[in-house]
Amino acid sequence: MRYVSTRGKAPVLSFDDVLLAGLARDGGLYVPERWPVVTAEQWRAWRSLTYGQLAVEVMAPFVDGSLTRDELAALVDRSLGSFGHRAIAPLKQLGANHYVLELFHGPTLAFKDYALQLVGNLFEHVLERRGDHVTIVGATSGDTGSAAIEACRDRRNVRIFILHPHGRVSDVQRRQMTTVHSSNVTNLAVDGTFDDCQDLVKGLFADEAFRDEVHLSAVNSINWARIMAQVVYYAWTALQLGAPDRSVGFAVPTGNFGNIFAGYVARQMGLPIERLVIGSNRNDILTRFTHSSAMRITGVEPSLSPSMDIQVSSNFERLLFELLGRDGARVEELMRGFREHGVMEVDEAFMTAFRSLFGATRYDDEQTGAIIRRTLDETGELLCPHSAIGVQAAIDDRAFGSLPMVSMATAHPAKFPDAVEQASGVRPGLPPRMADLFEREERLQRIGNDIEALKAVVRG
Ligand SMILES: *Cc1c(COP(=O)(O)O)cnc(C)c1O
Repeated sequence: MRYVSTRGKAPVLSFDDVLLAGLARDGGLYVPERWPVVTAEQWRAWRSLTYGQLAVEVMAPFVDGSLTRDELAALVDRSLGSFGHRAIAPLKQLGANHYVLELFHGPTLAFKDYALQLVGNLFEHVLERRGDHVTIVGATSGDTGSAAIEACRDRRNVRIFILHPHGRVSDVQRRQMTTVHSSNVTNLAVDGTFDDCQDLVKGLFADEAFRDEVHLSAVNSINWARIMAQVVYYAWTALQLGAPDRSVGFAVPTGNFGNIFAGYVARQMGLPIERLVIGSNRNDILTRFTHSSAMRITGVEPSLSPSMDIQVSSNFERLLFELLGRDGARVEELMRGFREHGVMEVDEAFMTAFRSLFGATRYDDEQTGAIIRRTLDETGELLCPHSAIGVQAAIDDRAFGSLPMVSMATAHPAKFPDAVEQASGVRPGLPPRMADLFEREERLQRIGNDIEALKAVVRG
C-alpha cells in the first residue's frame, strides 16, 4: 500500500516511511492511496475470529509491502499481551439497541493504548530493520503521555521524553508516567502550563539542525498507524452486532477526530456503519461546525473531560480530503484560510454529505455529571466523564432506537476518580494490576520553561 498526502504535494510513501514521518512535508496528513474493500462474504467469515486474529486481517492490506503477514501477526500478538481483559475490547449492553464498548483495558486504562501499543512495536521493528534510532519528544495534559511511555518503554532504538505541566495533571495521570522506571524514558515536569509544554516541543521540531541531530520523531494522533489500529475495534464490534448483514452506529467522545475517523475508514472498507456521532464537551468546535457549516476557532476551556479539551481537531483534515473528492489543492486552500483567519467554511453539498453520516452534540460539565449518575443508576456501568458524553450522544442521536448504537468508553473511571466520585458518590478503584500505583516510586526531572534547558536534557 502506498500513501498520499491530504494536500497533494508531498512524496508518495510506503507504510514504514509514513509511520516514521508523521506529518507530511507539505503540512498534510497521510492517507492510503485507496481504501481496501472487503467483501460481505469475507466479513462474515471473520465473525468467529479473536480480536488479535481480526486485527491481522483488517490491517494486513495497509502494511502490504512493508511487513509480511507473519511479522504483523507477531507484532499484534506482542501488543495485545499487555491488556487486562481476555476479550481485549468487551462489548456490554446498556439497553435495547444500546451498547458500550469498553476501550480501557490496556496498560494505561485509556483507548489510546489500543493503537499506541502497536505503534511502539512497529517503531521498534522498522528501526531495527533500518539500523536506525529515534528520539520521541511529546507534551501531555494527561492520557497521551502515559500511553506513549508504556508503548516505548524498554525499546532499544527509541528514547522518549514526555513533558507535563508541573502540578497540573492529576495524581493518577502523573504517576502512570513517573513510575515507569526504564532507562529510555524521561519525564519532565515543566514550570508552566500545558501550552508552554506544547510550545517547547514545537520549538524543538522547528529547529531543523537539532531535529536531525537527535532524530526527532513523534507519536501524536496524526500518525496514520494509530488510525489504522483503531479501525480494528470498529470492525470487531460491528461483526458482533450482525454486520455486514445489519447496520450499526457509533457515538464517540471526540477531541482530535482520530478515533471517529477510524470508524469512517471501517465504513470505507465495506462495513454498514450508518451513523457516526460526535460527542463534545464545552470545547465544541465540531458540534458547532455540524450545526452551522463553519469551523471556527475559539479559546480552550478546561472541562471534566480534559482529553477532549482541544482547540482544533487535526484529523478532521483527513475527512475533508475524502468529502472533497480527494482534491489536495482544495484542502490546502481551506487549511491555509483556516490558519490565517481561524475560520473555514464549506458549501451545502459538503454539509449534506457530512450530515448524512455524522451527527454531533455537546454536553457541559453539569450535564456530564448527571449522565454519570443516571447511567450508574439505570445500568450499573460506572463511566468516566469522556465516556459519559459518548453514552448520551448515542441516546440523543436521531438514529437511536432504529439501529444498534455503540457508545465508546474511552477511559477507565479510575483515571478521573474525583470527578466520578463527585457525580456518582462512588469512588472508582484502580484495577488490581495497578492497585499499588500510589506506593510506586516516582522519577521525574523538573525543568524551567526554557528551550535551551530542554535541548540539553534531550541531548543527554
Ligand atoms: C484522546 C481521548 C479522547 C479523544 O480522542 P480523539 O481521537 O482525539 O478524538 C477521548 N477520550 C479519552 C479518554 C481520550 O484519552
